[in-house]
Amino acid sequence: MATDTSFDLVVVGAGIIGLAAAYAARQRGLRVAVVERHARCIGASVRNFGFVTVTGQRRGEHWQRARRTREVWEQVVAQAGIEVLHRGAYFLARRPQARDVMDAFLRTDMGEGCRILGAAEAARDLPMLQPGHGVLYSPHECRMESREALPRLARWLEAAHGVAFFWNRPVLGISLPQIHTSQGVLHAAHAVVCPGHDLHTLYPEMLTQARIRLCTLQMLRVMPAQPMTLPGAVLSDLSLARYDGFTGLAEAGALQALIQTEQAEHLRHGVHLIAVQSADGSLVVGDSHVYGDSEVPFQRDGIDDLILGELHRVLRVRDLRVVERWAGTYASSADVVYKTAPAPGVAVGLVTGGTGASTSFAFGEELVALSLGA
Ligand SMILES: Cc1cc2nc3c(=O)[nH]c(=O)nc-3n(C[C@H](O)[C@H](O)[C@H](O)COP(=O)(O)OP(=O)(O)OC[C@H]3O[C@@H](n4cnc5c(N)ncnc54)[C@H](O)[C@@H]3O)c2cc1C
Repeated sequence: MATDTSFDLVVVGAGIIGLAAAYAARQRGLRVAVVERHARCIGASVRNFGFVTVTGQRRGEHWQRARRTREVWEQVVAQAGIEVLHRGAYFLARRPQARDVMDAFLRTDMGEGCRILGAAEAARDLPMLQPGHGVLYSPHECRMESREALPRLARWLEAAHGVAFFWNRPVLGISLPQIHTSQGVLHAAHAVVCPGHDLHTLYPEMLTQARIRLCTLQMLRVMPAQPMTLPGAVLSDLSLARYDGFTGLAEAGALQALIQTEQAEHLRHGVHLIAVQSADGSLVVGDSHVYGDSEVPFQRDGIDDLILGELHRVLRVRDLRVVERWAGTYASSADVVYKTAPAPGVAVGLVTGGTGASTSFAFGEELVALSLGA
């Protein structure tokens, strides 16, 4: 338990955005504390795939954020003792129109380092892949087990960087230099607020005006009866029709129209496929996207069936046992991030495009700069 109560900068929220901001502030030599409502991070940052993606991010600034974040993750995982479970991503084109999107993507600057795998290469890397119209391979991605990585990151920030952590302490209000928590007042010249999808505790009027909604996602962990190895994340046409980095291409229109006809139920529930593997051989598979003004409290089997159906269209894996189901929620808006400075010295930041693991470290740097007025 930290005992100091005065810092240069206090971060609210120990999700990945808060931890990334704490790291960025320490890189500037500031004395930093992180204050978290819960006993540990239980938000979106530990419920996600742990999939750090570059390919598919919105072109321009956000893609650059992902590239920068990927670079910082590489430094951090080595130092914090976080295991990278696999690298790269494989997109299977199940339709010729998806292959057109891939070819068009490769002609853009975002295609750098990516390529279409030859049939032999694809069969070598992923022998269980269903037949299709080509596989786009991106080398830029990596995957960590978030539920292990986040606590390790926090412990490392504390031990190696001297960040003070206050757990089980909701922050109730900020009036710098005072930060009012459920257990007393902390003092800091600067604050960075990273509340995830809590839009009601700090600066609620501002977050309401920003037209932020909540997106609830369903996730599954499945164990294949026969051992198998995924060398990287596996995705399908549905992601090529969903991710901004692809949908911004003219060729995406034909694919989206076809999916609208052939997989309307998937689109209705925002289902697309990401499959990644954990150290015990199980696969984390998702996901769906249901938008509203609150979290969706109930999970639906029908949505899980849509996700698993797509998995079977992409991978020849029989006899899967579902061993875990969970849901996660993130704040969502038309833009991919929301950041603002509601008072001098304070920055508030949310990643609203569902890509916080992939863009956290760059966004954390932006938020610290905003709070410093830099
Ligand atoms: C199921 C799912 C899958 C996803 N998959 C991916 C993926 O593979 N790749 C990717 O890049 N992104 C993914 N995302 C998105 C990504 O997980 C989020 O963008 C990211 O985790 C958001 O981080 P955060 O720190 O803002 O939020 P959170 O992780 O929710 O953390 C916010 C923290 O702030 C705390 N807090 C809030 N208010 C207060 C307060 N007043 N006082 C104290 N503490 C407070 C909360 O308790 C919480 O711990 C996924 C999201 C979900 C839900």
